[in-house]
This record gives sequence, C-alpha cells and structure tokens, in this order.
Amino acid sequence: MPDLATFLPRLDAGMREDPSWGEVASYIPELARIDPEQFAIAVASADGALYQAGDADVPFSVQSVTKVFTLAIALGRSGDQLWTRVGREPSGRAFNSIVQLEQEEGRPRNPFINAGAIVTTDEVLAGRPPSVALAEIVQFVRAAAEDDEIHINDAVAASETAYGHRNFALAHFLAAYDNLRNPPEMTLGTYFHHCALEMTTAQLALAGRFLVDAPGLPRLVSRSRIRRLNALMLTCGHYDGSGDFAYRVGLPGKSGVGGGILAIVPGRASIAVWSPGLNQYGNSLKGTEALARLARAMDWSIF
Ligand code: GLN
Repeated sequence: MPDLATFLPRLDAGMREDPSWGEVASYIPELARIDPEQFAIAVASADGALYQAGDADVPFSVQSVTKVFTLAIALGRSGDQLWTRVGREPSGRAFNSIVQLEQEEGRPRNPFINAGAIVTTDEVLAGRPPSVALAEIVQFVRAAAEDDEIHINDAVAASETAYGHRNFALAHFLAAYDNLRNPPEMTLGTYFHHCALEMTTAQLALAGRFLVDAPGLPRLVSRSRIRRLNALMLTCGHYDGSGDFAYRVGLPGKSGVGGGILAIVPGRASIAVWSPGLNQYGNSLKGTEALARLARAMDWSIF
C-alpha cells in the first residue's frame, strides 16, 4: 500500500493531466463563476494525521454535503420520528426532481434529495427561530472539525434564494401534503443557509471524522447512528449516481453541487475531495475519479 504523504501529491498531479473538468453548477449564480480547473484532496486518518494535496486550503461551498450533518442533528433531536416524514430508499432521480414527490404524495424518498433535506431542515428548526437552528448546525460542524473558523457564506445563500425556484416548488409541494411544520420560506431560508456553509477540503475531511467510528476522534453521535448515516450515504448520497459511486469507489459518500464529496472508510479515515466541475448526475467529476483511484490504491472498500 502506498504511503498517503507521497500518494496524494501524485494523485493530484494525475488528476490535472486529464483536460475534462466537467461543468460547474450554473443554477446558483455565485457558484457559476467558480473556476472549474481546481482540485483538492484531504485524508484525515483514524490515528489523527491529516494528509492533503492540491487546492486543499481553498474554501468552497459545501452545499449538499451539509445534509449529512443536518440529518445527524435531526435524528438526535427527534429520533426515528423523522422517518414518518421521509423514506430511506434511493430515489433514482435527480437531486431536485419534483415528479416523484407528487407521485409519492409528499413523502420524499430519502433525506439527501432536496425534498428530503428540506423536511430534515424543518425537523431541525422544530419551532425555533432559524438563527438558533443555524447556530446549532454551525456549532455541530465546528465541533466535528475542531475548527471555530467555519462559517456560512451569506452571499451564496442570498444567490440561491434569488434563483431557488425549484426548491420553492418542492417546499410548497411538501406544505400542500402537510409535510412541513414551519412556513416554506422559513424552512427554505434555513436550508439555503446551511447549504452555503463554506469549508476548505482539509476542514471537510476533519469534519467528517465523526462518521469514522474510531477511538480518539470526535464522537458526536452513537455508534449505531454512525452506521446508519453511512448506510444512507452509500445508498442515497449521490442521488441517481449512487449505484455508480458505490460500484466505482466502494465507500459511503455524500456529494454537493459545489463539487465537494465526503467519503468515509469506516474505522480508518475520512476523505474529502473537491473539484467544482460536475458530471451528469451533479456530482464532482474529478472528485469521483480521484476517490476511485485512492480507494483502489489503498485497498479501501467496505465490501
Ligand atoms: N443547495 C443546493 C440545492 O438545493 C444543494 C444541492 C446539491 O448540492 N446537490 O439545489
């Protein structure tokens, strides 16, 4: 097995050789102007070491990767009650699909597609003002990463709010089926803000350690909950690309349209990759490829 300190810079160089970088998300104007030709990888290992290569100190918009943190908080607050409102099955559809929500009468397939994450955010709000719920989310992520610098980028949240027509449609659909407890605008405002959390690739790898389940790492949720969060990441973390990701990488992972992916090697490591250009499923093109190469080289797989 290669040594990570020498392998990651080689992986970074290899990723930059291929001229196809994918397309940045264009539906959020603040993300549309990011240079796609960036790549970073960071590995936080169970023994406390952090390895990184490429643009690992450049902050980026974490977007849907935050859904793992908000799900952990929602389950901590209300336990299995969330599952009366959201399913646990892969959707086989795009992250922002509306058609399935109508067919299934307002109960989103899983907590990682947008409709399911909006319900999860609604559960985290639990009648509290958005500022209080957002403070809890930021605090959770800071505790996981052991880094108090992590913050929300308000310009990204405002940019998504101004153009978030599909998410407004999803939220109002949920409300029409009586599956939102707070006003749609309030839940969505909270959702857009937590999606606008900004982290470097190194910070994201550190924040992911709470899902590794190893002694000495920050422990924020129980062992059985860690396993369940990882199970959902494996089956639903990449939307309609989840099967392909499991096949190619073999690890639980969660992607975001900012181009970040968090992947977990249970008991061993938390890995973050970032490259803003996306593939046809809206997941980082080079990030996915880099994880496949790293997992193969390190012989890391849950199978
Ligand atoms: N905030 C984004 C949205 O709602 C998150 C989607 C994603 O990262 N896949 O569209």
